[in-house]
Amino acid sequence: APLADQDFAPILDWIAAEVRPWVGRGKVADYIPRLAEVPADRFGMAVATLDGRLLQVGDAEEAFSIQSISKVFTLTMALEALGNELWNRVGREPSGSPYNSLVQLEREHGIPRNPLINAGAHVVADVILSSDDDARGRLLSFVRARSDDMAVEMDPEVARSERVAGYRNTALANFIRSFGNLDNPVEAVLDFYYHQCAIRMNCVDLARSFLYLANRGRCQHSGEVVISPERAKRINAIMLTCGTYDAAGEFAFRVGLPAKSGVGGGIVAVVPNVLAVAVWSPGLDDKGNSLAGAQALDLFTTRTGLSVF
Ligand code: GLN
Repeated sequence: APLADQDFAPILDWIAAEVRPWVGRGKVADYIPRLAEVPADRFGMAVATLDGRLLQVGDAEEAFSIQSISKVFTLTMALEALGNELWNRVGREPSGSPYNSLVQLEREHGIPRNPLINAGAHVVADVILSSDDDARGRLLSFVRARSDDMAVEMDPEVARSERVAGYRNTALANFIRSFGNLDNPVEAVLDFYYHQCAIRMNCVDLARSFLYLANRGRCQHSGEVVISPERAKRINAIMLTCGTYDAAGEFAFRVGLPAKSGVGGGIVAVVPNVLAVAVWSPGLDDKGNSLAGAQALDLFTTRTGLSVF
């Protein structure tokens, strides 16, 4: 039978048992004070297939802070707003540096290496702010439509808590602005950025919401064309090469799928033409990716044979 037709339910149960030793290990992100309060012992995983199946295990319905996973949604919106001109303002090469690194920006004249590191996400946020008076509302409706969950919200406490401790992002945004690559005030860009990162979703929402990238740009449940097949292809490529920062090589080696992580402990991965899979476990490795989450995806692609390799 085709790989896509597998029964994923027992596979998820098996993975949840296998990753137990990793759950609770690693370090919960604490540079955003509010995130330090999240219990470390959680693990959830959900698979949403293009043929309409939804499978889940563990804490798959517990909402968490999606953090950098939001960068995929905003990249999608900015590409629709600005078209390919976006690539004059942000690159598409892996950075090989931590997500919040400043060093390459000076050499590259304020053009961030890619849209999935913090610097690139600031430029993307700036594009969205320039294209809409209600950028936050627009992003929220986008995410609600993709996940088919009208209850998705931004957590104002997480956004506030990150702003208070946001020295690094403040430095990045000011530095980019000094090169003329932000049009809006730095405060407005950061305010939008902290709120996009503060979106709360669960694994089920996230798996469902990434299906448009598995489906050549078309939303699986509404049938809406979110983005062209060409752009869906390109966003997947950027996720593969840049979605897990300076662990993207290691991630391709272990998992072999386009994926995006966040310091809330979530990771979403796309199997083109088949499914999207989301995992959550708050303990992070030293690159800021979920330890148990990466392990779960490694097991998933090996066991199912579903990777791009
Ligand atoms: N909001 C976080 C930050 O800007 C996002 C980082 C992440 O999830 N990798 O540092």
